[in-house]
Amino acid sequence: MKRLAILGATGSIGEQTLSVVEAFPDRFRVTALAAGRRVEKLADQVRRFRPELVAVADAGAAGALGDLLGAEAPKIEWGEAGLEAVAVHEADQVVSALVGAVGLRPSLAAIRAGRDVALANKEVMVMAGALVLRELRAHGGRLLPVDSEHSAIFQALAGQRREDLQRIVLTASGGPFRTWPAERIAAASIERALAHPNWSMGPKITIDSATLMNKGLEVIEARWLFDVPAEQIDVVVHPQSVIHSLIEMNDGSWLAQLGVPDMRGPIALALAWPERLPLLAAGGSLADLPRLDLAAVARFDFEEPDAARFPCLPLAYAALAADEAAPAVLNAANEEAVSAFLAGRIPFPAIAATNAAVLEAHIARVAPAAVADLEDVLAADEWARAQARERLAAGRSA
Ligand code: NAD
Ligand code: MG
Repeated sequence: MKRLAILGATGSIGEQTLSVVEAFPDRFRVTALAAGRRVEKLADQVRRFRPELVAVADAGAAGALGDLLGAEAPKIEWGEAGLEAVAVHEADQVVSALVGAVGLRPSLAAIRAGRDVALANKEVMVMAGALVLRELRAHGGRLLPVDSEHSAIFQALAGQRREDLQRIVLTASGGPFRTWPAERIAAASIERALAHPNWSMGPKITIDSATLMNKGLEVIEARWLFDVPAEQIDVVVHPQSVIHSLIEMNDGSWLAQLGVPDMRGPIALALAWPERLPLLAAGGSLADLPRLDLAAVARFDFEEPDAARFPCLPLAYAALAADEAAPAVLNAANEEAVSAFLAGRIPFPAIAATNAAVLEAHIARVAPAAVADLEDVLAADEWARAQARERLAAGRSA
């Protein structure tokens, strides 16, 4: 019986994780759950999974959850301390599925407690990849990728000698604006940006998929997860989202992992690795999981990503080339810009323009900055947010 603590339980990844857990009740037990403010959904999860501890965003949400659950309430904590309590609560594995920088501290706490971590919250690796690797080595836990591309690479690399790896190729769906001309993208509405062609996900990553910032964040994530330099990581657009990513070996041979675009596959793999859960035979909460039908997919298409219409992707490479703090700067600027776009305060192209301007200002401001500890990462994050907010408020992105 594997005991699980889940950070971000009410989100898209959190809910899908619980649907996998529900289908294998003799394999997993949920000991702790953390979420933000969706207390009704969390209360329902508490009744179904009976964790010993839950955490929510703030005192108000904690009170509301306690009222909803009454005598059924487990221990309820809140705020940053609550997230960390869930991260280090008694468990064998922590599912890191918060969105954005808020997940960094609790994910590091889980790693420092020696837990295995199933990582969906890619911003953790983008902000602090080198630090995360150091802490993993010091504390002996494993990092299991949940992001579908990284899960694919992880599976393709299994059994291969690392020195034989030539190159990682991440696939990208291209997002909702793949075929749109630049002028049309410039006027894109929030609704159109949120309408992803292949994947149903939380709002932040869906906007990141529309700008291709998501693929840029994934390049940075892959750089650290697989300890491969940026020069050996490429991106190809593959609109069907069936090939989840590929590796090229030094003999010219390629290995890929394929599947339907459904996150329950990579989530289940991260929960059970090196075993595989028999999802196809599961029924119940997984009865609707489609099987891959190649004849129905009919064809695989590939194209180069267009850096002119999607300038966020090259920004990720620029950040990796700059210094260790630059990816955290880019990530923070992007979080601020995406939330401004989702609030209707800026047009779509201002996301990329803000990210570019803040990254440029960072590169111009300092001699290359090393990241020694969490404080350095948080300082870069805070500086970049202030820069981004100032530009966003002034309606000036450059
Ligand atoms: P989501 O917005 O659906 O869920 C985020 C979760 O975090 C929710 O439970 C929310 O309540 C919680 N949360 C947010 N802020 C909080 C705070 N301050 N305190 C406590 N809880 C807070 O996001 P998602 O789509 O599930 O994505 C989660 C992570 O997984 C992201 O980093 C994303 O990039 C990554 N990811 C998601 C998918 C996907 O299919 N959804 C695929 C690959 C990677
Ligand atoms: Mg992905």
